Amino acid sequence: MRASPITPTVDFDADGEQHGFLKLPYSRDDSAWGAVMIPVAVVKRGEGPTVLLTGGNHGDEYEGPVALSKLAGELRAHDVRGRVIIIPFMNYPAFQTGTRTSPIDAGNLNRSFPGRPDGTVTEKIADYFQRYLLPLADYVLDIHAGGRTLDFVPFAAIHVLDDKAQQARCEAAMRAFCAP
Ligand SMILES: [Zn+2]
Repeated sequence: MRASPITPTVDFDADGEQHGFLKLPYSRDDSAWGAVMIPVAVVKRGEGPTVLLTGGNHGDEYEGPVALSKLAGELRAHDVRGRVIIIPFMNYPAFQTGTRTSPIDAGNLNRSFPGRPDGTVTEKIADYFQRYLLPLADYVLDIHAGGRTLDFVPFAAIHVLDDKAQQARCEAAMRAFCAP
């Protein structure tokens, strides 16, 4: 499979705090060399597990973007052992318009996995998460909310998995979230 067209402006292996972008080239009428710039923060200190925290998978669910933006601004390298990767607005075009799906291609990111490197903008984002970011992560927390059309009570959820050992670790993490 071809490489992702997305290039990060951060070095995922570097210690310290970095704030940058996942740059996705997107040629369009108002910008031939335009790009979708998805903000990313990396906070790393030494060896340890990697946690990937994501929000804005659906662009009308603002709670994850608010919480993760605050965390990205506050978290320092001395706070962690290992690495925290924060992407507050996964589907950034959708977040910019406050809509569940992308204004560029009507893509519902959560329904676009595993994605395609040569697909639509939304499929390219999904592909980058699937093939580049998830393999870096020991733990993944993707924050959703009700958006414009639903009300959610606070909860944490996991999937039923074929790998029961992995499912047990997921359940432990779910309980550690301490949702009411
Ligand atoms: Zn959602």
